[in-house]
Amino acid sequence: MYPHEILSLYNLYKLWTNQWRSSSELKQIQEEKLRRLIHHAYRSVPYYRKLMDSAGVKPQDIQGTSGLKLIPTTSKKTLLALPKEEIVSEDFKNERLVTIQSSGSTGCPFSVLFTRQDSRLTWFSFLRAFTANGLNLWDKTLIYTGSFRIPSKKPWFEHLGILRRYYVAIEAEADARVEGILRFNPSVIQGTWGVLLALAKEVTGRSIKDIRTKLIFGYGDTIASSERKFIGDILGGRIVDIYGSGEAGIIAWECGHCPGYHINIDMVIIEFLKDGQDVSPGTAGEIVLTNLHSYAMPLIRYEQQDMGIRSDKKPLCGRGLPLMKSFEGRTDDFVILPTGKAVPPSFFIAVFTPLKDIFQWRVVQESAHKIKVLIVSSKVSSEKIRNIENALKEKLGAEVEITIELVDEIKKDPSGKRRAVVSKVK
Ligand SMILES: [Zn+2]
Repeated sequence: MYPHEILSLYNLYKLWTNQWRSSSELKQIQEEKLRRLIHHAYRSVPYYRKLMDSAGVKPQDIQGTSGLKLIPTTSKKTLLALPKEEIVSEDFKNERLVTIQSSGSTGCPFSVLFTRQDSRLTWFSFLRAFTANGLNLWDKTLIYTGSFRIPSKKPWFEHLGILRRYYVAIEAEADARVEGILRFNPSVIQGTWGVLLALAKEVTGRSIKDIRTKLIFGYGDTIASSERKFIGDILGGRIVDIYGSGEAGIIAWECGHCPGYHINIDMVIIEFLKDGQDVSPGTAGEIVLTNLHSYAMPLIRYEQQDMGIRSDKKPLCGRGLPLMKSFEGRTDDFVILPTGKAVPPSFFIAVFTPLKDIFQWRVVQESAHKIKVLIVSSKVSSEKIRNIENALKEKLGAEVEITIELVDEIKKDPSGKRRAVVSKVK
């Protein structure tokens, strides 16, 4: 075993035990990590040094979460407009970093860089939530994800039969998605709710009976309780909703006992704000995130662009990780093809997320045969536009007319929601 693996196991152990610490101990851990991150960002990241200087804030002014509010919030748009040297820590400029494509759930793809250590910790935070819900070392997990996210090689432990993961690309045809279940016989299925819902419908259409999953982990889209029940009935297993993002990995998760989601306060700081002020429990606020393990490219008071409701309920399960009541992320539509087939929003996310030149996008289905794609980009080539058109045509069929329009800005819906896929076909 290499030294970094021993360190990883130690970190995994610490993270595992943290969940059972008292909330005051966890708060201490959180604030200690915050002080370290702020000093690091001020010393080695030009953007944060300038931001704090212009606000007249020194690292020593920030001793805890209340001091953190002295730093102005940062939007994705601000970070996207800056060169890498401004936002990546000088300490890691010569190191190999891990790039995570944030899903582009706002229709706005964004690459976040992590140190190897931080990226491993992010994975551990997923493992903590999954094992807390009953995942064991011998379980086989089937993951539905964008093909750009499928790793090219397996880690050593999977060769020993530990925490085995199998992948099916969400861009794959419905048949391939269903066959994934029959082929791998997974005990755990994981994917965005959009994909899981489509999968459950595909399984129903084929009258397949023998699906024996024990756990379904879903994330990424907002899911109605009736759809949740439907997925559970068809795919079997207990449903667990996860709130996470490419910028922070897992942020909050259900444990199966408590009303709401445990917030990983030993990994992140979450604020719920309205007009810049904390909202009271039970009221919806905009989520602002500080990722305490974002040393390569710090994210401090980052506008997550989701809404969430804080909770003042005490956990029933004995964990010290506090609860949030609910969150509302993306509420994208499915695109309904003339054949009646539904294409989940995650298909479009998989197409657009890897395209770095595209700042923002939205797919609008005007009618069964007509789709308009809006793109905000200053440098996308006509060749790339043709490629997008072809990728969409291949999936949606030749009978659907696709027009791509370059625009300066994509506005939020009047409801204030962000939607990347909007269908006017009901
Ligand atoms: Zn709990």
